[in-house]
Amino acid sequence: MKEKIHLTGYTEAELIAFVEQLGQPAYRGRQIFAALQHRRLRSFEKMTDLPKDFRQQLEQHSTASTLTIESRYISQDGTRRYLMKTHDDRPVETVFIPEERRDTICFSSQSGCPLQCTFCLTAQLGLLRSLTAAEIVEQIIVALNDAYGVGVQPPKGTNLVGMGAGEPFLNFESLIHALRVINDPKGLHIVPKRITISTAGIVPRIHELAAMTDRPHLAVSLAAPTDELRNELMPINRKWPLDQLLAACKEFEKTLKPGELLTFEYVMLDKVNDSDEQARQLANLLNRHGLRAKVNLIPHNPAEPLPYLPSPSERVDTFQSILETKGIHTYVRKPRGRDIYAACGQLAARRELRTSPQISQI
Ligand code: SAH
Repeated sequence: MKEKIHLTGYTEAELIAFVEQLGQPAYRGRQIFAALQHRRLRSFEKMTDLPKDFRQQLEQHSTASTLTIESRYISQDGTRRYLMKTHDDRPVETVFIPEERRDTICFSSQSGCPLQCTFCLTAQLGLLRSLTAAEIVEQIIVALNDAYGVGVQPPKGTNLVGMGAGEPFLNFESLIHALRVINDPKGLHIVPKRITISTAGIVPRIHELAAMTDRPHLAVSLAAPTDELRNELMPINRKWPLDQLLAACKEFEKTLKPGELLTFEYVMLDKVNDSDEQARQLANLLNRHGLRAKVNLIPHNPAEPLPYLPSPSERVDTFQSILETKGIHTYVRKPRGRDIYAACGQLAARRELRTSPQISQI
């Protein structure tokens, strides 16, 4: 049987073209877009403003949802992790992080990940497959519906981070398409300046993103101040070493808006990359490339069988102050959802730990 088209990944214009092919007027396409993206409905059955026979016709060719929610884990700090399944049984994980000012949703771009960063649990899955644009968009819809209620507008607005499982820049086309759908004021309306995409350093895509208008913010995962150590921790560095990566970042920096800064993420691994000397090397590296970036230090989130421990907090503080004295804006990211395997680098479709009742339909 031919696979049904997952309409959640279509822009309004694409939906209009789609319904026209079925012999329907354009406004039906606009109605479906609003039902999927504004009312956040996940079945045609609930779109009662569409004629019944049209809904049946839609059902034959297409679908309004392909992800099923296997379980939801709720952390003591309020963070929620959703473990979902694609139609072909691949795990997809999404994290909702409640915050004082504005809630954040962290989405996945791939099921598993092909990069073999030694400190990341997702790497242990390998790449299962890249997600479609529709699967990326549906993750946001699931998280918003669960957090606020179906179709209820987020009271404080939403930040989006592409920091879940996978390497977003190895699924660039679907990612950019999904963002176009997510940006639409008639739909989810999460605008580019509220979105940050994190990459392990796929250099050609950094150049490509730099050339785009209306692009999201960029974060780059460094994890090491030298090629020698980075080759070991993040093997992708052998393909695109630090000099090339930071040259691409410099290009990107030229396209930043006033007040916008590039972010570098630096996972803090006890006795591996957290010495005073390494802090100085990191600051010198960024300064040598003339980057006006900010650095986010991420205390390592440990998980069996990863062979690392998090740096002690005094170490993180000292590392931060060395960077600061060398003129680098540095923040320490507070770990969220560690107890439910929802924190950075912990998404690996883990099923254990505290579970709230299963929510198969939300
Ligand atoms: N592949 C992309 C997107 C994933 S983002 C990237 O690498 O940027 C996930 C972030 O969490 C990255 O900055 C990564 O360096 C960090 N990370 C991975 N494993 C971690 C761990 N165990 N503890 C803390 N941070 C981790």
